[in-house]
Amino acid sequence: MYPDRVVSGMRPTGSMHLGHYHGALKNWIKMQTELPCLFFVADWHALTTHYDDPTVIERSTWDMLIDWLAAGIDPSQSTLFIQSRVPEHAELHLLLSMATPLGWLERVPTYKDQIENLANKDLATYGFLGYPLLQAADVLIYRASQVPVGEDQVPHIEMMREIARRFNHLYGKEKGFEEKAQDAVKKLGSKRAKLYNELRTEYQQDGKDEALEQAKAMLDDAQSLSMGDRERLFGYLEGSRKLILVEPQSRLTEAARLPGLDGRKMSKSYGNSIALREDKDSVTKKIKTMPTDPARVRRSDAGDPARCPVWQFHQVYSDQPTREWVVNGCKSAGIGCIECKQPVIDAIIKEQEPMHERAQPYLDDPSLVRAIVADGNDAARRLALETMRDVREAMGLAYS
Ligand code: SF4
Repeated sequence: MYPDRVVSGMRPTGSMHLGHYHGALKNWIKMQTELPCLFFVADWHALTTHYDDPTVIERSTWDMLIDWLAAGIDPSQSTLFIQSRVPEHAELHLLLSMATPLGWLERVPTYKDQIENLANKDLATYGFLGYPLLQAADVLIYRASQVPVGEDQVPHIEMMREIARRFNHLYGKEKGFEEKAQDAVKKLGSKRAKLYNELRTEYQQDGKDEALEQAKAMLDDAQSLSMGDRERLFGYLEGSRKLILVEPQSRLTEAARLPGLDGRKMSKSYGNSIALREDKDSVTKKIKTMPTDPARVRRSDAGDPARCPVWQFHQVYSDQPTREWVVNGCKSAGIGCIECKQPVIDAIIKEQEPMHERAQPYLDDPSLVRAIVADGNDAARRLALETMRDVREAMGLAYS
């Protein structure tokens, strides 16, 4: 089977804030130590909503890459690249579009939500309807096994899986597949070949999932097979098709939700965000002026943390004893709000210190970021070209 791999991207539509850090980046940083990861700047995706003002994209792209590096994405562990620098994403998107039923795209729940949320923009465009398909191409082109997502994105991954399945069904039928697959079985050696056939029968006739898993594990271990034969045998286990595109799995992320300064979702457009590399004074000022429980008009009024956005920051940043101190002090009016906010200010500044340090060399010499991304673009493109070679061949487009 193809190696495990994670793919994820972000749209460069403005600077990154702490909501992005706690919501997604921290997960990326964790994942890069577990599996090979490809992280990309989704600049074409930014165009789906910013087609009328693309100027923000270039600046945001480079700022965002520095933010990723500042946050702790390590280019020696992860591949960082820019979507539009791997034009094969567009080619696969186009090819997939030929066989993707329109209804699949219209049904994606976020499609209607976004149109309503961004009512000030005309999103009745072909590109916007097709963006989940472009997302599918972004993932399928790397044969990614896992995609980190929040709950709301799970239907997108389901659709990617349907698209991969449909593609394999339509185009995975190669001439003489059955004979080629049986030849490949022989190459496993007599003992393994016998076991493979038994497990295949158990799965196909009796629907035993364990047999399928056992056979897949055996193929993973079979060193003697070429990549083509291995894929044939994976496909042969389940039917009579070669697996060209891999169905990715959703990897649900347990993200801490850091709201904005006013308790709504953190967003630069709401003016309630703290930038990832905001300077200390500005962080202090923003937290100090954050709204609190409206019931605490005077210092002597008791409050309730459940009605206060500062409390939500404590839930992300403070340890248990500090949280108890907040709850007791707030409900008894034993502490003032400024006092209550200080541990949050200290924790944010402490969290950001190493980010500022890591960002500095890239700010001093932007060519360092350019070089990291150039390497990442090349590495990503090599993988994308491998998949496209198989896709073109399967679709009958590899003629000269
Ligand atoms: S004491 Fe803390 S939790 Fe209570 S209202 Fe003030 S800032 Fe909010």
